[in-house]
Amino acid sequence: MRWRDKRRSSNIEDRRGRRGMRRSRPIGGGFILLIILGLFLLFGKNPLNLIGLGSNGSVPPTTIPSGSGGSARANDENADFVSVILGSTEDAWGDVFRKAGYQYEAPKLVLFNDYVQSACGMTSAATGPFYCPGDHKVYIDLGFFRELNHMGASGDFARAYVIAHEVGHHIQNLQGISMKIQNLQRQVSRTQANRLSTLTELQADCYAGIWIHNYEKQKDILERGDIEEGIRAAASIGDDRMQRQAGQRVNPDAFTHGSSADRTYWFKVGMKYGSLKKCDTFSQAR
Ligand SMILES: [Zn+2]
Repeated sequence: MRWRDKRRSSNIEDRRGRRGMRRSRPIGGGFILLIILGLFLLFGKNPLNLIGLGSNGSVPPTTIPSGSGGSARANDENADFVSVILGSTEDAWGDVFRKAGYQYEAPKLVLFNDYVQSACGMTSAATGPFYCPGDHKVYIDLGFFRELNHMGASGDFARAYVIAHEVGHHIQNLQGISMKIQNLQRQVSRTQANRLSTLTELQADCYAGIWIHNYEKQKDILERGDIEEGIRAAASIGDDRMQRQAGQRVNPDAFTHGSSADRTYWFKVGMKYGSLKKCDTFSQAR
C-alpha cells in the first residue's frame, strides 16, 4: 500500500505502557529511577553526572521504560500505519454518509498492551482486536499483527483489512443494526443466535470492502497484490480455518465469524459495489 504520504487520524487514543492495566509490573526501570532520585536528593545534583552519563547536568533522569511486545520502533511504525488506515476509513465513510445525507461520526481507536478496560468490561489482548458498541471505540493490541503473520495473513493490506472490519462494526452500530441483532438473539435458539452473529460478521467484512472501494477512488492507495492480501486475511481468520488449526472438526453451528469462503465472498461484494444495500447479509444469506 502507498500509505506513508496519506493523512493521519487524530482519533487515536494511545494507552500503551499504562502500568495500571498490567498483570505483572516489571519493577526494573522504576526501581533504578528511584535509586537515581535518591542519589539526586543526597548529592543535590544530577547523579548521572557523577557516573559520567549526564549531559552537563541539565537533563533530569526521566527515561520511561518502554512497554512490552517487541521493539518500540516496530510498534511505532505499526501505530503510524494504523492512524493512516483509521484516517482512510474516516474519509471513505465520511463520503458515503454525506452522499446519503448524514454526517459521519467517526470512532476512536485505542492502542493498548495486554489488557484494556472499556464499556465492554476488562478485555485481554488474546481476544484479538474488537469494537465496543457501548463507547464507540475500536481496541487493538498491535501484537495481533504478529499473530496475523502466523495465521498466514501477512502484508500491510491484511492489517488494514482488520481495522476496516472493526470500523465496519461501528457502522453497524450507527445504523442500529448491532442493537437490533442483540435483541433478536435473546429471543431465538443458540444455533440461530450464532447464525445471526455470523451474518453480522460477514456484513462487517462487506463494509471493509466498501471502505476500500471508496477510499481507492479518492486516494489511490492500492498496489499490486494488496487485494489478494486482504482476501487471504479474510480467509485465514475464517472460523472453519481456525477450528481446523485448533485441531477441531469443522462445525458450522459454532461459526460466529463465518467460513473462509463466505468472508472472502462478502468482502468482494463490498469492494465491487461499494454499496450498503448490497451488504445486506441478513436477507441475502447464502
Ligand atoms: Zn468482527
